Amino acid sequence: MALIVQKFGGTSVGTVERIEQVAEKVKKFREGGDDIVVVVSAMSGETNRLIDLAKQISDKPVPRELDVMVSTGEQVTIALLSMALIKRGVPAVSYTGNQVRILTDSAHNKARILQIDDQKIRSDLKAGRVVVVAGFQGVDEHGNITTLGRGGSDTTGVALAAALKADECQIYTDVDGVYTTDPRVVPQAQRLDKITFEEMLEMASLGSKVLQIRSVEFAGKYNVPLRVLHSFQEGPGTLITLDEEESMEQPIISGIAFNRDEAKLTIRGVPDTPGVAFKILGPISAANIEVDMIVQNVAHDNTTDFTFTVHRNDYQNAQQVLEQTAREIGAREVSGDTKIAKVSIVGVGMRSHAGVASRMFEALAKESINIQMISTSEIKVSVVIEEKYLELAVRALHTAFELDAPARQGE
Ligand code: ADP
Ligand code: ASP
Ligand code: MG
Repeated sequence: MALIVQKFGGTSVGTVERIEQVAEKVKKFREGGDDIVVVVSAMSGETNRLIDLAKQISDKPVPRELDVMVSTGEQVTIALLSMALIKRGVPAVSYTGNQVRILTDSAHNKARILQIDDQKIRSDLKAGRVVVVAGFQGVDEHGNITTLGRGGSDTTGVALAAALKADECQIYTDVDGVYTTDPRVVPQAQRLDKITFEEMLEMASLGSKVLQIRSVEFAGKYNVPLRVLHSFQEGPGTLITLDEEESMEQPIISGIAFNRDEAKLTIRGVPDTPGVAFKILGPISAANIEVDMIVQNVAHDNTTDFTFTVHRNDYQNAQQVLEQTAREIGAREVSGDTKIAKVSIVGVGMRSHAGVASRMFEALAKESINIQMISTSEIKVSVVIEEKYLELAVRALHTAFELDAPARQGE
């Protein structure tokens, strides 16, 4: 008998009918003899609706109060799913994060899980009950409700699976697995049977929102077998694995990720002296703004230009901080651009192949797409381009790296 944690995302519990369907599915697993813990998201659109409501009161809602409110979305779906199970003769009980005691730090709206008390869940399982837990939420040491950041129910699922030493954590969603890129943008994208934790971590951090990045971190750290599956279609889904098979057929690139959430800032004519990067980025970090890509140009005339990207939400703050810095250090000007996008190719196969970046640049050049910034690591290459070319770039790269699905007959 196995212990399985099953997480169902927002669209999968988006209506009462779907919740009934999820209950049928869980019932079948239960009848197969497995112990089941279910984690659910709020109904799709609900978390956005709640955030919009809060924003009608204040542009920047108090983080603690926002958590009190957005956590209600999941409280509704756990109760509905438990009712639907009980109606089918399946004993079930629902718990909020606080009731389980999913202990987190106090960083409201982006809290991290510190510890999970597994006692209650274990005794319910022992008594033959399906346990339904609210995703996305926890409680801090002072009893305040916290939430784990958008998409955080994935992390609840994986963290529970780690705490309970579950045999598998299954993430049920509206696609039948992890694809070479977002299938909504590239219809030729292909489902991957397997992807390594390392690649999935890069894909998630570079913008593929199919799994929240922290859930992948957790799964890698605690070695939780993790699978992404379609909620209502049969199929093997995608297994996130540790092993990096050496196969002749292994593609160089496993996937393409993209992200429209960043903005770019440039400071020009900066006197080029030691410590310049610190003078520019120190105040940015002191303002609690995270920097992603950084480019510093080779100096000429004893001055240099410095460009970096931040989250779009932080753009205005970062611009103000940078303008202040420019005055202090005597830089010539500050400029910025919010209409950018980052496109990344990801694959462990890059380690053993040369020329991957140039192949990427060639594909973009063929489409006359200008590259504004570049950054690389061992298993990824990212570029910043103008946002309006994003979809064209992703499609061109998908084809250039031979990721397109073979055309089906009749197409
Ligand atoms: P849920 O509500 O179930 O958590 P999400 O919307 O968070 O679902 O994640 C599923 C979505 O992720 C898919 O509908 C798809 O558009 C998007 N997505 C982005 N990149 C990928 C990818 N590489 N593979 C599969 N889906 C992806
Ligand atoms: N309901 C939350 C959100 O929309 C958490 C989740 O769905 O994973 O971000
Ligand atoms: Mg999600």
